[in-house]
Amino acid sequence: MINQGDIDPATLQPVTIPRSEHAISRANISSSALKVLYRLKDAGFQSYLVGGGVRDLLLGREPKDFDVGTDARPEQIKDLFRNCRLIGRRFRLAHVRFGREVIEVATFRAASATEAAETSDVAHTDEGRILRDNVFGTLEEDAWRRDFTVNALYYDIRDFSVVDYVGGLEDLKAGTLRLIGDPTQRYREDPVRMLRAVRFAAKLGSRIHPDSEAPLQELGHLLADIPAARLFEEVTKLFLGGCAVTGFELLRHYDLFRYLFPMTDEVLSHEEQGFPITFVARALENTDTRLAEGIPVTPAFLYAALLWEPVRLRMQELQQQGASGLEAAQIAGNQITSEQQGFTSLPKRFSLPMREIWMLQPRLERRRGRAPYRMLEHPRFRAAYDFLLLRSEVGEASKELVDWWTQFQVLNPDDRATLTDAGAPAKRRRRPRKRRSAAKSGG
Ligand code: ATP
Ligand code: MG
Repeated sequence: MINQGDIDPATLQPVTIPRSEHAISRANISSSALKVLYRLKDAGFQSYLVGGGVRDLLLGREPKDFDVGTDARPEQIKDLFRNCRLIGRRFRLAHVRFGREVIEVATFRAASATEAAETSDVAHTDEGRILRDNVFGTLEEDAWRRDFTVNALYYDIRDFSVVDYVGGLEDLKAGTLRLIGDPTQRYREDPVRMLRAVRFAAKLGSRIHPDSEAPLQELGHLLADIPAARLFEEVTKLFLGGCAVTGFELLRHYDLFRYLFPMTDEVLSHEEQGFPITFVARALENTDTRLAEGIPVTPAFLYAALLWEPVRLRMQELQQQGASGLEAAQIAGNQITSEQQGFTSLPKRFSLPMREIWMLQPRLERRRGRAPYRMLEHPRFRAAYDFLLLRSEVGEASKELVDWWTQFQVLNPDDRATLTDAGAPAKRRRRPRKRRSAAKSGG
């Protein structure tokens, strides 16, 4: 039987909250999600909004996406929607696409607890991790196999009521994030739930229930077995979801950060001056601010910042061994990137621009001749400049250099020469002047 700490599922009665007593309105549900819900219902299936959509609407927040639960099997879902694709091995899910919006439709599944472990459709590793989980079940079983109580609330499209089997409504009101079932077992089944705990605690501002919190430090090492690609996804959700600062603090607090960014964690743990941690924290703060202001963010910049300390230290070592700044940036960048890939993979479309941001840091120090003009044309200039700005904010790059670039960008092309001139040491004035006129006549 599933053990839920102080909640006993045998005595817990499902609670149904009628439409008149909760705040979810169809006006706040996307029209695509409503279409899916109604089509399933009209075809005679059970049809519920579930997961983050219900949770966020009850909290008066705008959901990131909408998930639907149904008793229709994946093939039956596919037959109902032309714009539908079946995905996933671990979970077979249907994705119904409407333009850029994707509604995720999942068939109710039975508990993944040990009792189901003997059946052939649930596969476990020795650590208790679930590899496959395709035992279909009832609505109630589906509720119990979800991760957190606040994520297991169902909005019934038939009568617009909310159904709660696991005490999620009370936890939601109290601001408690509580794992369903025995926390240790649930984290072992899927260690990513530890990262989800941190993410939801940060995002919802809720407190992780002491029982769900207790095993975190001890079980963190299980994250080592999770495929690097899945960790990349999770890290991205955690740090690019608007609550990166809190998420980072919680990860460090529960000692989970080191399973994601071991090289960075090592630097942060050994540093006494507090400056590298300030850099990472400042970068995350900047990410949250940009998101709040609707300015785009990219994993490339985020990863460039998260890995900068190890890169910088490696660069220093290489330069002590005689490498030039550019060589050091290139080699250190390649090394740290490939070492990090073993923990959280980074797709090429992000790792290439990330390395360019690093590579451009020593180049930003060249202010004479044609170099700064070429720099302005570089597709990654803006990101590299923003990065330099962050470095200067924590005292790692000179403020004067940043100010120089700030001016250089805004000056009209004819006036830029006054700056490349001013930036050059007095005794070498002649050469840049010549080059400048060459640059002028060329452009
Ligand atoms: P958001 O979409 O805002 O990030 P969410 O709660 O909707 O949050 P999803 O990853 O979209 O999160 O998952 C949808 C639902 O599926 C969750 O609310 C939860 O009920 C269930 N779920 C997702 N991942 C897991 C997991 N690893 N273990 C158990 N249940 C899960
Ligand atoms: Mg969701």
